[in-house]
Amino acid sequence: MQLRDTPEEATFRAEVRAWLEEHNPGLDGLDDVDSKKAWSRKIYDAGYAGLTWPTEYGGRGGSYQQQAILLEEWARAEAPSHLGVIGLGMAGPTIIAHGTEEQKLRYLANILSAEEIWCQGFSEPGAGSDLSAVRASAALQDGHFILNGQKVWSSYAHIADWCILVARSDPESQRHAGLTYLIVDMHAPGVEVRPLRQITGEAEFNEIFFENVEVPVENVLDEIGNGWAVAMTTLLHERGTLGFALTGTLDVSVRKLIALSKERRLSDTRLRDKVAQEWIELQALKLTNYRALTKLVETGIPGPEGSGSKLHFSEQNQRLTKLALEIADGEANGWWHHQQLRSRGNTIEAGTSEILRNIIAERVLGLPRGR
Ligand SMILES: Cc1cc2nc3c(=O)[nH]c(=O)nc-3n(C[C@H](O)[C@H](O)[C@H](O)COP(=O)(O)OP(=O)(O)OC[C@H]3O[C@@H](n4cnc5c(N)ncnc54)[C@H](O)[C@@H]3O)c2cc1C
Repeated sequence: MQLRDTPEEATFRAEVRAWLEEHNPGLDGLDDVDSKKAWSRKIYDAGYAGLTWPTEYGGRGGSYQQQAILLEEWARAEAPSHLGVIGLGMAGPTIIAHGTEEQKLRYLANILSAEEIWCQGFSEPGAGSDLSAVRASAALQDGHFILNGQKVWSSYAHIADWCILVARSDPESQRHAGLTYLIVDMHAPGVEVRPLRQITGEAEFNEIFFENVEVPVENVLDEIGNGWAVAMTTLLHERGTLGFALTGTLDVSVRKLIALSKERRLSDTRLRDKVAQEWIELQALKLTNYRALTKLVETGIPGPEGSGSKLHFSEQNQRLTKLALEIADGEANGWWHHQQLRSRGNTIEAGTSEILRNIIAERVLGLPRGR
């Protein structure tokens, strides 16, 4: 992996930086869904949404290196991200990999322009780390599926137009077999969304109830019964491409931690060491991401290394926000308090730390299966 920009990459970086200098509304500059959609649309119009997606579906056909540069510049400028997090990071890449031409044409450009927002309905009350325990049922009847069941912890479901989910289409099946991957219209009759309030006070994730919801058979992604393989594509993208975005978030936090330490004229050597350690850990994470990027460029699909980045990020983010509050010495500080509370979910979402350690042990280090 070449760590310095090539001349073309340097030009691209300068272009992104100049655009952000002119347009960035700032992290606190958007406070409702409409303004977030408008900002996302602006990103799309500038050609910065779906950078690596094929041009025929509204993408830019760019390289993964450009995508990494984009995310680095976004973090540097402390600019808000595109609202379509699930569409861009999970639904879109899964549709590109498994969708029919009609599905690609129908959904992809609207993800990029934030015309339509997506959510992911994988988790259920009895199926989290073990996704193969999914119980939601999809019964095929007269050219459509009848969907019944409950999903939980679905981020963005309260504002979503579409949901990617797995349901059991063969009622006799067990575990990974007999699952079908569906694209479900969140405005269809029988879909009910109930927001869940988090420890931060916000309600950004939800329960979803499906009661006899009709899903046209055209909305199956890939083959009926092949849902497990399709879901694995979604999860690989969730963890694999998340690395650079998460590192961007951490970059902002480490900068703010250093600024706080300077502002407080931090003299306690124990705390000063800890601040330096967080900066070092961030550099290590950046290099890990470059290694994962090299693999991605070679193979075109994210590998299990993304699990390492996600694990590193989530554990560091919790530690770092705790340290910042210690340095702030109990003084009320809205931003850090919010970060600390939100960071609790980081070690659960997109695979818990325990599950990610299992994946690293088995799939990166090649150790025998735990059980
Ligand atoms: C902020 C946030 C956003 C989320 N957004 C979404 C979303 O948009 N869509 C969606 O579908 N889901 C979402 N989730 C759900 C998330 O994917 C699940 O919470 C996660 O997969 C864990 O599942 P669980 O909560 O059922 O815990 P469980 O799977 O019941 O795990 C409980 C505990 O047991 C441990 N454990 C379980 N199995 C093993 C094992 N084999 N080895 C070692 N330890 C194990 C876990 O690490 C954990 O500590 C979100 C969660 C959070 C916190």
